[in-house]
Amino acid sequence: MRCREDKTTDDKISEISAADDRGIRRRFTSGHDRDTVYPRSMIASDKITYLDNNATTAIDPAVLETMRPFLEKYFANPSSGYRFAAQVRDAIEQAREQVAALLGCEPGEIVFTSCGTESNNTAFHSALETRPECKHVVTTAVEHSAVRKPAQELERHGYEVTVIGVDKSGRLSLRAVADAIRPDTAFVSVMWANNETGVIFPIEEIAEIARDKNVPLHTDAVQAAGKIPINLREVRLQFLSISGHKLHAPKGVGALYVNRRSRFHPLLVGGSHENNRRAGTENAASIVALGKAAEVALAKLPEEQTRVRNLRDHFEKALLEKTPNARVNGAGAPRLANTSSIMFDEIESEAALMMLDQENICCSAGSACRTGSLQASHVLSAMGLVNEQARGSLRFSFGRFNDDKDVDRAIEIVPRVIGKLRALSPAAVR
Ligand code: PLP
Repeated sequence: MRCREDKTTDDKISEISAADDRGIRRRFTSGHDRDTVYPRSMIASDKITYLDNNATTAIDPAVLETMRPFLEKYFANPSSGYRFAAQVRDAIEQAREQVAALLGCEPGEIVFTSCGTESNNTAFHSALETRPECKHVVTTAVEHSAVRKPAQELERHGYEVTVIGVDKSGRLSLRAVADAIRPDTAFVSVMWANNETGVIFPIEEIAEIARDKNVPLHTDAVQAAGKIPINLREVRLQFLSISGHKLHAPKGVGALYVNRRSRFHPLLVGGSHENNRRAGTENAASIVALGKAAEVALAKLPEEQTRVRNLRDHFEKALLEKTPNARVNGAGAPRLANTSSIMFDEIESEAALMMLDQENICCSAGSACRTGSLQASHVLSAMGLVNEQARGSLRFSFGRFNDDKDVDRAIEIVPRVIGKLRALSPAAVR
């Protein structure tokens, strides 16, 4: 009898196939990875109507082309002394310039990280370390969990956190920001654009307020970068976070802008990488990819903003015409051109997601399933939506690779799904 470890790949495939609820098995036999087994049948991306670009984006082919040699050929450790490594260092420096151009800052102000979450955590850490006497932090009620959770951690460690609310359109009051800042405020963290609703905050004005009060400002610009123009030579803030996978670079790379006049304390310590600001051997291929993605995003920004806005506006108009009792969350506030968060009466978004998934439409819910119960999104709750409204909201986010066909398909299928769900809802039965 063979022990578990002796099982052949074919045995494993059979087991996985049996477990797979669709009963389809798949073995990848190309290249070196002959024995890689994926536990589920893979759905080809060309079968998918992908309307979830705020969750992640497809890698741009130009980005993939640019990074490929750094995976295949130029694998040297950028810190090594020989010329083979110097060319990798050069490529990283070029990427730094490209990211700096997207953000309108100096290349020396860019620190590469592993993701937006790391960038946010690094900004928090640095701001607190440089102002140890300050035990108060200001943030908003609609931040991504990559800011919310670190802020909650601070509360556990004795900091006081002021969380500023928003109005029913998702707007932030500048007066509330000014009033929240105190002499003992260590830093303020306000996102540039919201990942769920696309609502854009007036970071330029918030930066002025923070500057007048002499308090560092961090902004989570993970959703804003590449979608709206950013010029940090004109907006005086201390830290800004971005993430590669939201702008058509791969997952696992991000960057933190650190104003050159700011004092800085690294979160990751060890080697002297990134000019002593982020230890750890650089993820060279992904950094090169992020650089290229930034370059492409900057070049395409005005044209794409208009094109994507047209897609999104057409989608919203047609959807609302075909679907009674639905409305756009954040309508009335300045919004990212690509994001559409829609509240539908009498549906559960998780059920809608499942039905849309069956139709190969990818989008997101305004709720999260936690331990079997649906929790309304904190963003929509902060905008005053009651639980049922937040739980009846869906987010559609468009991007570079969407076209009219995707929108037409969504306009045909989404109202049908909503209609079916409503027909099943207790309100309809009554
Ligand atoms: N901040 C915002 C606004 C986001 O939307 C996300 C990802 O969804 C993050 C931070 C986290 O970025 P990453 O996935 O690169 O850690």
